Amino acid sequence: MLLLNPGPVTLTERVRRSLLQPDLCHRESEFFDLQDEARERLLATYTLDPAIWTAVLLTGSGTAAVESMVAALVPDAGRLLIVENGVYGERIAHMCAQYRIAHERVVGSWMQAPDLEVIAARLDATGPEGRFTHLAVVHHETTTGRLNDLKPLGELCRAHGTSLLVDGVSSFGAEALDFSDDSLSAVAATANKCLHGVPGAAFVIVRRAALAQAASRTYYLDLGRLARLQDQRNTPFTPAVHAYYGLVEALREFAEQGGRLTRYRQYGSLAEQVRAGLAALGIEAAVPPEQSSVVLRAYRLPAGLTYTNLHDGLKAEGFVIYAGQGDLSKTLFRISTMGDLSSADIDRLVKCCAKLR
Ligand SMILES: *Cc1c(COP(=O)(O)O)cnc(C)c1O
Repeated sequence: MLLLNPGPVTLTERVRRSLLQPDLCHRESEFFDLQDEARERLLATYTLDPAIWTAVLLTGSGTAAVESMVAALVPDAGRLLIVENGVYGERIAHMCAQYRIAHERVVGSWMQAPDLEVIAARLDATGPEGRFTHLAVVHHETTTGRLNDLKPLGELCRAHGTSLLVDGVSSFGAEALDFSDDSLSAVAATANKCLHGVPGAAFVIVRRAALAQAASRTYYLDLGRLARLQDQRNTPFTPAVHAYYGLVEALREFAEQGGRLTRYRQYGSLAEQVRAGLAALGIEAAVPPEQSSVVLRAYRLPAGLTYTNLHDGLKAEGFVIYAGQGDLSKTLFRISTMGDLSSADIDRLVKCCAKLR
């Protein structure tokens, strides 16, 4: 079965086999070697300076990493402005409500780019509670496949002395991320999307300086404590050891294959192959290619074809696709190009779509 859903992804044999390594106690030096290697390799993905940045590992899915980032990095006296144009932006607002973090939302259409003028006006305003100390945005809004442009948001943040928190769960490892942007405080991500590991390991890439002021709102997901202990070759709880095996092997493979840019180009060519193939069948992309990620794209269901028929027909041929979320489930379907996929796989996918069309 080939997974074309946005994670977990189709594994390479090498990563799948890496799960069958010796049983490992997480209090032994072998585990801390594994943890150290994962943290070093995560920073190397974007050639980050370990004196400035650190990679904090967590056991959990991507949501755990986003939650850990948000709960720690908006200090008790801080205020967060959330840019929302999809399900994952909405999820950040739910987290803030849960932790009673002072926040406001800029809710835009799920089919549009964030409105920079509205965001600038919100950052300019100093309400009774004061200015926004932080801005949160989803880099690749997997809801629609839209890649939110971080550059103008970073500029706004720098101009306002605001720190930027990024949900990079479905972009880290493939799309460009500008870590030289001084406003960028942290990026949350996971092993099992663009990095091609297995579910269970997630991480936050965070500026060490931002950790120094971190709040401690959650026990299990406490980013500051996790960072401190991991720096001491320690861990507070039992990590998903096998998921760490998978992550490290996936990161070794990633580096050997040429790193982030190679992956970006591979995804880009597969995504374009899907787009062109479906366009020839009269199936339109929901977001223009130049505003889309290379990781996943959303397409409009053609008249007369239900998602269930498309999904079940493709599943019978060995492909798992993904439905639209929320209100978009009736009109859109999504195809991810993450994981161990080839151009021949996409060729066969398009032929199967032609039969079902
Ligand atoms: C997948 C995803 C998440 C987290 O999903 P999990 O199911 O918790 O791994 C968060 N944000 C984005 C943008 C995602 O694509």
